[in-house]
Amino acid sequence: MKGSDPLWLRGIVSSEYGTSQTSSIMMLSLWIFPILVVISIIGGYLLAKRALAPIEKMSISAQSIREGHDLTKRIAIPDGNNELHSLAKSFNGMLDRLENAFKDEQQLTNNISHELRTPVCVIMSQCEFTLEKDRNTQEYTEAIELVLRQSRKMSKMINDMLSFARLEQCEAVAYEKINFSEIISDVCYDMEAIKEKNISLESSIQPNLTVKGNSEQLSCLAVNLISNAYRYGKENGHIHVSLKENDGIVSLSVSDDGIGIKDSDLEKIWNRFYRCDSSRSEKGTGLGLSFVREIARIHGGTVSVESTPNEGSTFTFTMKK
Ligand code: ADP
Repeated sequence: MKGSDPLWLRGIVSSEYGTSQTSSIMMLSLWIFPILVVISIIGGYLLAKRALAPIEKMSISAQSIREGHDLTKRIAIPDGNNELHSLAKSFNGMLDRLENAFKDEQQLTNNISHELRTPVCVIMSQCEFTLEKDRNTQEYTEAIELVLRQSRKMSKMINDMLSFARLEQCEAVAYEKINFSEIISDVCYDMEAIKEKNISLESSIQPNLTVKGNSEQLSCLAVNLISNAYRYGKENGHIHVSLKENDGIVSLSVSDDGIGIKDSDLEKIWNRFYRCDSSRSEKGTGLGLSFVREIARIHGGTVSVESTPNEGSTFTFTMKK
């Protein structure tokens, strides 16, 4: 209170009691401190283990994929939407691409072996048959002609495959402005002369259409489509080639009134080595349209087909002007 004297309070404890209190506090701390340390170490370890568990799982999956060479396996995607989740997703996406590339590679090797085996077998059996006994000149000539035909077939296939491989590697080629109308006119002019099966070729080409691209590749695309129109066209049939521009999109279409394509084959004809049953006896290698699609893709364009069996087909390539 204001103006009053300060109040003093004095306590008395025996010195024995004070010492025992201090030592029991000391003892308690000696026990508790290590326990607390152990608890925090275990807790920290468990927390870290829990946080790292998804990474460990991902690493085990990745290791089993590597060791088992099994590209169909995928990493279990952890719940949530955090960094680990997106890492696992990207990893699985990469595995999807690798698996598809690997399957394509296997399919390609199977197809190449299959396609080359036939001519090689024909050549071998023809040679064995011819060498069995002495033959006259006519028989030798026939045998050599057959060997030559089969060798040409193999040579065409090998050249096509090489061109395809080159095409796949030339993504970075700088394209220049070219006169697409001139390219298509030249191709049509050259191909009109084929007159195979008495098929006639007509064209309607909008003049001076320019695109950014590679003239050799684009003319190769047109040659492939027109050769197919001849190959799968009917006796006395017609081919119509048209090139026009609409709203900045240039479209080239090649129509024929030939054998046409079944609905069930329409998706497959773009695959390498695919040949429809109806055309197995024809001379093709089954590479032409996959070539066309690749050229369209690297020009940023698309190629599509509409077809009716026994009535004909129209292949259309479009790209930006
Ligand atoms: P191929 O060398 O066998 O012609 P392509 O890749 O050019 O190979 O064509 C694949 C298949 O698509 C052909 O075997 C054929 O069955 C079919 N095809 C392609 N163009 C035509 C067409 N204009 N008319 C009918 N079928 C076609």
